[in-house]
Amino acid sequence: MSKYVITIDAGTTSERAIIFNQQGQIVNVSQREFEQFYPQPGWVEHNPLEIWETQKFTINDVLEKEGVTADEIAAIGITNQRETTLVWDRKTGKAIFNAIVWQDRRTADYCEGLKTAGHFDKIQQKTGLLIDAYFSGSKIRWILEKVEGAREKAEAGELAFGTVDTWLLWKLTGGKVHATDVSNASRTMLFNIHTLDWDDELLELLEVPRNMLPEVKASSGIFGHTDAELFGAEIPIAGIAGDQQSALFGQMCTEPGMVKNTYGTGCFLVMNTGEEAIASKHKLLTTIGWQIGDKVTYALEGSIFIGGAIVQWLRDNVHFVDDAPEIEALAQTVEDNGGVYFVPGFVGLGAPHWDQFSTGLMIGLTRGTQKGHIARAALEALALQSMEVIETMAKDAEIELKEIRVDGGASANNLLMQIQSDVTGKEIVRPEIVETTAQGAAFLAGLAVGYWDSTVQIQKLWAVDKRFTPSGKDVEQIKHNWSRAVGRAKAWVE
Ligand code: ADP
Repeated sequence: MSKYVITIDAGTTSERAIIFNQQGQIVNVSQREFEQFYPQPGWVEHNPLEIWETQKFTINDVLEKEGVTADEIAAIGITNQRETTLVWDRKTGKAIFNAIVWQDRRTADYCEGLKTAGHFDKIQQKTGLLIDAYFSGSKIRWILEKVEGAREKAEAGELAFGTVDTWLLWKLTGGKVHATDVSNASRTMLFNIHTLDWDDELLELLEVPRNMLPEVKASSGIFGHTDAELFGAEIPIAGIAGDQQSALFGQMCTEPGMVKNTYGTGCFLVMNTGEEAIASKHKLLTTIGWQIGDKVTYALEGSIFIGGAIVQWLRDNVHFVDDAPEIEALAQTVEDNGGVYFVPGFVGLGAPHWDQFSTGLMIGLTRGTQKGHIARAALEALALQSMEVIETMAKDAEIELKEIRVDGGASANNLLMQIQSDVTGKEIVRPEIVETTAQGAAFLAGLAVGYWDSTVQIQKLWAVDKRFTPSGKDVEQIKHNWSRAVGRAKAWVE
């Protein structure tokens, strides 16, 4: 009798295996960090074997901790850091280079070249993405160019490409299955999100042979089974989705116009746009949310690089607080921001600005500025950045959204949530379980094997912890000053 579903959450700095029960609740978790390699400025790599070994450890560990055997697991769902690129030898199963991580900028110049050569519109139209080193395509090309003999082997069909989901699926199935899901494929800059196939014109442009690409499948469905020797019995791997898309599903944002915001290190906003792939006019990404059966759900996405990391910076770099949650009480010592604005452009600004030459900026400081004002300005910065993306999404999608569902570490901050509601004028809804990324993959996998019957049944599992509604406070001045402050932070680096 299958009692549980397991999610494999293959993150950027750590991997987790999480056991869920039929109520969608977390029963047990195993988590382990793995090494980050920075071989040169702007380069970030992971060791592919370590990604696999770490993940395998967490699965065995969580089963053991909970005293559960593999035959009690109905299905495994995978959710993963997206875009990170691996290439391996099909025969030996060994990677020919380290995994090139999504943050890695080594192909930035090549991508600039693609823009200069006039490929911007075509790539956006086909893939929904803006040309950037962030996505997998240019990273695959780099490996084929730089690793000796790689191109010849690729042409001969001896190499396989995968994002982290595909790599783990390959390993879990003992090298039997080379596949991915549409949500991960849509982050490669090689996948046509309208035809749902790898795009030959883009493959030729980026010089990537089609034969090295995985088969692209629906997000919910049986991809394969774990090798029986790994965990003592075969377990179906029945759901895959990239982390942000998985969170959108975990939040049960299943209708067009529904939005989630994850307040982690960065803020990641994703809006369900239904069966329509909406081309952004304002530098958001169009992406695939998931596919269940034949039905593809599209999404708009806007990423903010520095979200909760503002608070981390205040804690670790300037010792402003000892603990992230302390920021809330500190911000509550004052009535308002006292005229202080804090633009966290530490690594440039993401959506909707995309300015790589901005830096952090604090402005409006006077003799009267207190610690509390700075704390409040920091929380407002999280909320105001998110507001900009929300407003942009509403414009692109021509949808009046009702509410924003929230998750991630900083969503625990009640004051921040209230500010978010005030500046957007929307209802902010925080669910009881904020582990929505892991939940999404569990739901996708459980649906495929009949552990859950339908999304309607799953919707009933999603429960609200707290709703925040606009207080009616006048926010025009704050919004006006924020946009002036952002203007001053931009283009600072000469
Ligand atoms: P990630 O998954 O990106 O590592 P988490 O979802 O764990 O991030 O969220 C952690 C981030 O949220 C950190 O950057 C931390 O500074 C911030 N954070 C955690 N708790 C709070 C809080 N109560 N108020 C504001 N920020 C917080």
